[in-house]
Amino acid sequence: MKRIVIKVGSSTITHKSGLLNLKKVEELTKVISDLSNMGMQTILVSSGAVAAGMGRMNMNEKPDSVPEKQALASIGQCELMYIYDKFFSQFGKVVAQMLMTKRVLEVDMLRQNAIRTLNQLLSYNVVPIINENDSVATEELVYGDNDTLGAITAELIQADLLLVLSDIDGLYDKNPNMHADAKLIPVVDEITCDIEAMAEDTSTKVGTGGMITKLQAAKIATEANCDMIICNSKDLRVIYDAVEGKQVGTLFK
Ligand code: ADP
Repeated sequence: MKRIVIKVGSSTITHKSGLLNLKKVEELTKVISDLSNMGMQTILVSSGAVAAGMGRMNMNEKPDSVPEKQALASIGQCELMYIYDKFFSQFGKVVAQMLMTKRVLEVDMLRQNAIRTLNQLLSYNVVPIINENDSVATEELVYGDNDTLGAITAELIQADLLLVLSDIDGLYDKNPNMHADAKLIPVVDEITCDIEAMAEDTSTKVGTGGMITKLQAAKIATEANCDMIICNSKDLRVIYDAVEGKQVGTLFK
């Protein structure tokens, strides 16, 4: 049985206005439900709580201060799960929420508990939905670090594949939003200094991580023997291609 962790960034599931892109969220839940029907176990690592909170509070500018973002994330996390629950229910799937911090990896007891819970949820055929616990941790809010949370999750459940869905086709040799001649790199066998130099620290309006945290995630995942793919979420049929082993985006192995 294939175990897949799918990480979606804020840019995938929100509109430019900052509000949730419900069509995208629904499509995502449909594909993940289908993977489950095909006998695969999928865990979703989803950002978007701050965006959902902004929508709930009728705000159209993301606040700068961390406490404001934390408050919006805790408002938005309820909204986000409510929407995921609604859409997954449509396809007959049950969801579970797990809010994590990086300390889960550092403290053995927390780590063991997380592994046990995740495995139990997967054996129930439930779709675990993971996010950073933004009210006690700030790494995602400050560094966009759900990329590494995705990799940590992949490590915990010994996933076969970590799929990072983004607003970009994959890793380019330089930031394609700034350089028209940037070239997509299809496969990365080793994350060398040259590869790291390609990731310029550019944040989108709603996402914060950029390529740097994605490369950190790729290191964690590949060291745990899990392949990672970065690919564009504009057409979610790409998820089927990725699990079937077709060449999409950038594969780190
Ligand atoms: P998401 O919110 O989907 O996780 P991010 O905005 O965090 O996405 O990261 C993707 C962004 O990283 C791209 O839109 C691009 O602006 C930036 N970026 C910087 N360097 C590169 C590179 N070498 N290849 C691809 N994208 C890059």
